[in-house]
Amino acid sequence: MNRAGTPPDRLTIVIAAFDEVRAVPALQPRLAAVMDQLAGEGVDARVLYVDDGSGDGTWEVLRSIAEADPRVALLRLSRNFGKEIALTAGLDQVTEGAAMILDADGQDPPELIPRFVAHWRDGYDDVHGTRISRAGESWAKKATAHAFYRVIQRLAKTPVPTDTGDYRLLSPRALDALRQIRERHRFMKGLFGWIGFNRIAIPYERHARIAGRSKFGFWRLWNFAIDGVTSFSTAPLRLATYVGLLTACAAFVFALWVIGKAMLYGDPVAGWPTMMAVILFLGSVQLVALGVIGEYLGRLYEESKQRPLYLVRETRAAGAVVRASPMPRDP
Ligand code: UDP
Ligand code: MG
Repeated sequence: MNRAGTPPDRLTIVIAAFDEVRAVPALQPRLAAVMDQLAGEGVDARVLYVDDGSGDGTWEVLRSIAEADPRVALLRLSRNFGKEIALTAGLDQVTEGAAMILDADGQDPPELIPRFVAHWRDGYDDVHGTRISRAGESWAKKATAHAFYRVIQRLAKTPVPTDTGDYRLLSPRALDALRQIRERHRFMKGLFGWIGFNRIAIPYERHARIAGRSKFGFWRLWNFAIDGVTSFSTAPLRLATYVGLLTACAAFVFALWVIGKAMLYGDPVAGWPTMMAVILFLGSVQLVALGVIGEYLGRLYEESKQRPLYLVRETRAAGAVVRASPMPRDP
């Protein structure tokens, strides 16, 4: 595909890994085969592993992989920052060519990467894999994920494609755009949609993990969902307003009824249960509304601190993949 004489297209495969000591060695040979295939198609492919503060020897495994293969670059964060930040750290390093995001656990088959690249060469900026099936996941995870994608799609003003994770290729201009977004609570799936440009989906079957366990348990997914909603929608704040209006209307009707009853039948002191019910109800509505406001206020607070998104502990560069100065300055 590459015309003779033109420099090859550069592709950096960015992989966030947290405690993946058993998965990474199984994934790497498959990646190497894909990179060989891409080289034949005129693509200079490299891998950048981001060790997100693993504590199980993943870094040592990655180092030996990088020593054996000059196409592998490494970045090690100072502690566990979470997948979204780890991906951001990796993508920040890709200053040339496109980037492909892949999970370290083999759930996103690397063998499909050439198809992503083909779409990139056709002029697409955001080529994303959309799951048509998910092997090896509990029905609870599938059901909650299904519901979450539908809710966020209705709430967010920018597109968040259904059943689409982080498995995707970003063109150089999409990467440039993403680099300008420095918010702390990074809901990457939403950010990708926010960027816009030419988007296309590749349907694929999501495999089961090659080894290890998922890092996203119920609580982590729940918090992730809250981050997603609060980052891309203020609908919960508006909902608080509407609930307030509704309860005000109900309170008005109830007051009319109480006054009417007192005028018709006098006012013997009674109705303690009703009063308690009303007080408890209004109290809890207020607390919920305060909690919703608190969610947004807390995020505002964290943004205002302006801390760097992540700190780099160590790098191992392959070619020019990892920049000499690993800490991008926040604007
Ligand atoms: N991951 C990460 N930091 C974390 C948690 C996860 O870099 O704090 C990586 C993990 O190593 C894997 C990817 O993010 O490569 C997806 O994680 P996982 O497989 O646990 O999530 P799931 O596929 O179950 O949603
Ligand atoms: Mg996984």
